[in-house]
Amino acid sequence: AADEVGLAADERGRAAELARELEEHAYRYYVLDKPTVADAEYDALMRELEAIEERHPELRTPDSPTQKVAGSYSTLFTPVEHLERLLSLDNVFTDEEFHAWAARAAREQPVTAWLCELKIDGLAVDLVYEGGRLVRAATRGDGRTGEDITPNVRTLASVPSRLRGPAVPELLEVRGEVFFPTERFTELNAALVEAGKAPFANPRNAAAGSLRQKDPRVTASRPLDMIVHGLGAHQGFDVASQSGAYARLAELGLPVSARHEVLASVEDVLAFVRRWGEHRHDVEHEIDGVVVKVDDFGQQRRLGATSKAPRWAVAFKYPPEEVTTRLRDIQVNV
Ligand code: NAD
Repeated sequence: AADEVGLAADERGRAAELARELEEHAYRYYVLDKPTVADAEYDALMRELEAIEERHPELRTPDSPTQKVAGSYSTLFTPVEHLERLLSLDNVFTDEEFHAWAARAAREQPVTAWLCELKIDGLAVDLVYEGGRLVRAATRGDGRTGEDITPNVRTLASVPSRLRGPAVPELLEVRGEVFFPTERFTELNAALVEAGKAPFANPRNAAAGSLRQKDPRVTASRPLDMIVHGLGAHQGFDVASQSGAYARLAELGLPVSARHEVLASVEDVLAFVRRWGEHRHDVEHEIDGVVVKVDDFGQQRRLGATSKAPRWAVAFKYPPEEVTTRLRDIQVNV
């Protein structure tokens, strides 16, 4: 018994250490745009903390990194409150984990169709349209409060400043991913090195660094693109499903991906995950997995969300490609 007490104390100490490390990595990643560990290493630390909290639920406090949306906002930008919270996603890494996740969801709420799409490795941005006009764009921040980057987002060619069509919604908040096209990334780094400046660690980092600029002219000079993949607050936008929303958003002139598919069975979902795993380099942006969502909005609503992520969606993450990249050794640009 004494051993067990000692073990529990060890685990408590380790949990505190993991929480500290995760917070520090999130700060470097989201606020400084200077991560010092690979994503897979961050994910492994998060998994270790989840496993400890699974054994010792009393350690799972609301402020644990396992329970909240990672990220913060910098004083460089004006803070803005999102109309609706931007959440993160829970992860699965294997077919077995996906089966278990889907079975848990279906036990709560029968699921009639799954919407599968690529998980874009960029940064989350929230757009608000009022009367069809883009009035605000913000980073995710901590999920409630983000950074006002409206002038920067206005420089993106794929983001319309006005929605198209006669029946524009009174209010429309959408979320998506801003990314740096992979091919252009190599060119950017070559140009930065040529100019005696530090290159970016990866395209995600280049997207974040290019967008979170005080001077929107720098953003304008970078070939950033955006794909919309979520809906926030809305009025006058009546749709019944995620796939229906994408069709309507495309009509309104917003950039949605043509690569999503609505599938009926878990086996078909796993085939989609495998297929894109083989073709991940055929896409113009980096992908770090596939996102699987319950398609029907009524079913989504009944499943709800935790403090961190919806229960109706999950990220199936692909194995890292080069875990050994030592980001610490790279002088990363901001
Ligand atoms: P996440 O990236 O695993 O998933 C949530 C995000 O996925 C959403 O916010 C959304 O913006 C994005 N996304 C992309 N395509 C999407 C789609 N089609 N549909 C819905 N959402 C889509 O979780 P997170 O909380 O943003 O970040 C955690 C991840 O960030 C970690 O797993 C790690 O990979 C990375 N990270 C790395 C470090 C580091 O130091 N290297 C630090 C913090 C976070």
